[in-house]
Amino acid sequence: GIKCGIVGLPNVGKSTLFNALTRAGIAAANFPFCTIEPNVGVVPVPDPRLNALAEIIKPQKVVPTAVEFVDIAGLVAGAASGEGLGNKFLAHIREVDAICHVVRCFEHGDIVHVAGKVDPISDIETIDTELALADLDSVERALQRAERNAKSGDKDAKVRVEVLGRVRDGLAEGTAVRALDLSDDDRAAIRDLFLLTLKPVMYVANVLEGGFEDNPHLEAVRRHAAAGGAEVVPVSAAIEEELSELDDEDRDAFLADLGLDEPGLNRVIRAAYTLLGLQTYFTAGVKEVRAWTVKAGSTAPQAAAVIHTDFEKGFIRAETIAYDDFIRYRGEAGAREAGKLRLEGKEYRVQEGDILHFRFNV
Ligand code: GDP
Repeated sequence: GIKCGIVGLPNVGKSTLFNALTRAGIAAANFPFCTIEPNVGVVPVPDPRLNALAEIIKPQKVVPTAVEFVDIAGLVAGAASGEGLGNKFLAHIREVDAICHVVRCFEHGDIVHVAGKVDPISDIETIDTELALADLDSVERALQRAERNAKSGDKDAKVRVEVLGRVRDGLAEGTAVRALDLSDDDRAAIRDLFLLTLKPVMYVANVLEGGFEDNPHLEAVRRHAAAGGAEVVPVSAAIEEELSELDDEDRDAFLADLGLDEPGLNRVIRAAYTLLGLQTYFTAGVKEVRAWTVKAGSTAPQAAAVIHTDFEKGFIRAETIAYDDFIRYRGEAGAREAGKLRLEGKEYRVQEGDILHFRFNV
């Protein structure tokens, strides 16, 4: 599956956030929640469009799509040089597709901060430094290999030496690889290194109740993230954990008390989904209205494969209705009458929110 890794220094609220995310998963009606490993949670993606579709179709069940979150605890200063269990944690990060970086934006006398004081920018830099050092190590080794191969006349290796040289220089100055100006070819040349600082990143700023406004730590994180084009989602992990333990009615009352219209977790999940470059399409029948996840830019057969590999192999066409048309014309029959049902072939690139009905050979 496609995974978002939760990283951050100790005591910033990672486990609290992870618990809230996974417990909210259990509460979601009809969702086949499962925990693969203790630190991996499959979390349903909240999507109001599912309710709108269900209102029209009145299906037997509604199934949201999901993203996987991985709790990567234990990253500390010195990880890249093998401090603690550092290398093991870095290896876990290598396996994820995007990074959700939790930073502590609250002061609390009882909760010790590893660096002795709350300074989210310094925390971000500590983690970023470890990731950059680990990448520098990978890149230097790859560079040495490429240089050897280039000497023996390998033309591709010469190109690689040039690209790796630039990436190394950037990392040596502490620049994340994602922030370097790399062409598509450059990226292809370093893809096999699974560099940590190439992965897209978002920040979850953990605040206390009342810490959403006039919070200099939060403002600092926002400025830092804006410079790198990253999103910041402020949440209170402790509140989210409490919310995740309540039933729907109590939760709505608690949210109303806090003046919120939805749990902050919903924003975390949606931001992660976007960060991972994912999009949603729907299948809509009386048995089941369901959301499915594909990589943005997927073709119709690739989208079909998410449901079943046979759907891809025997793909004939996808009967397609845009989400807005499906809602406007109150379902498939209405959309068909209005000429809004399209027959799309193998080359069709699925659009966000499409309602698809696959036709295939068995
Ligand atoms: P981790 O080491 O990053 O996984 O941090 P934890 O999730 O274990 O949190 C460290 C401590 O901070 C725990 O005692 C949490 O209860 C507390 N904590 C985390 N988030 C919040 C929060 O939003 N508000 C309050 N009051 N405490 C929090």
